[in-house]
Amino acid sequence: MERTLSIVKPDGVKKSLIGEVVRRFERNGLKVVGMKMIHMDKKEAEGFYAVHRGKPFFESLTDFMSSGPCVVMVLEGENAIQKTRELMGATDPAQAKEGTLRRQFATNVERNVVHGSDGPDTAAFEISYFFNALEIFEY
Ligand code: UDP
Ligand code: MG
Repeated sequence: MERTLSIVKPDGVKKSLIGEVVRRFERNGLKVVGMKMIHMDKKEAEGFYAVHRGKPFFESLTDFMSSGPCVVMVLEGENAIQKTRELMGATDPAQAKEGTLRRQFATNVERNVVHGSDGPDTAAFEISYFFNALEIFEY
C-alpha cells in the first residue's frame, strides 16, 4: 500500500470538477483517506512548490495556486503514486493521453486541474504539508 497527495487545483474547483476527479480516483482503486478544502496564500503555495523555485513559471504558478480554494486529498492504494499520475495525464494537456483528467479538462499547461505527487519522497513531504496524523483515516 502506498499513499500520495493529490490536489484539485483552483481551476478544477471553479469548473465544478471536484466530484469528477474524486470519482475517477475512487473508480480506479484509490481510497480517499484524507480530504479538505483549503485556500493557500502566496507563501504557502511557494512552500508547496519550493522545488520549482527559480523556474520561469514559478511566479505565475504560485499566483494561480493561491488564487482560490483547492481540495487537497491523501489517496491510498497499490502503486498510488503512479496510478494517480496516469489518471491525471501529462503536465501539458496537449501531450496528455486521451481519457486522462488533464486531457479532458485542463485549460493549459499551468491550469491543469489536478496535482499528484511524483515519487515516494515528494509524497511524504506533500502529505505532511497539509495533513497531520489525526486527519488521515483507516477504513
Ligand atoms: N507548470 C507550468 N508551466 C510549465 C511546467 C509546469 O505552469 O512549463 C505548472 C503546472 O501547473 C504543473 C506545475 O507547474 O502542474 C508543477 O510542474 P511539474 O513539472 O511538477 O508538473 P506535474 O508534476 O504537476 O505534472
Ligand atoms: Mg510535479
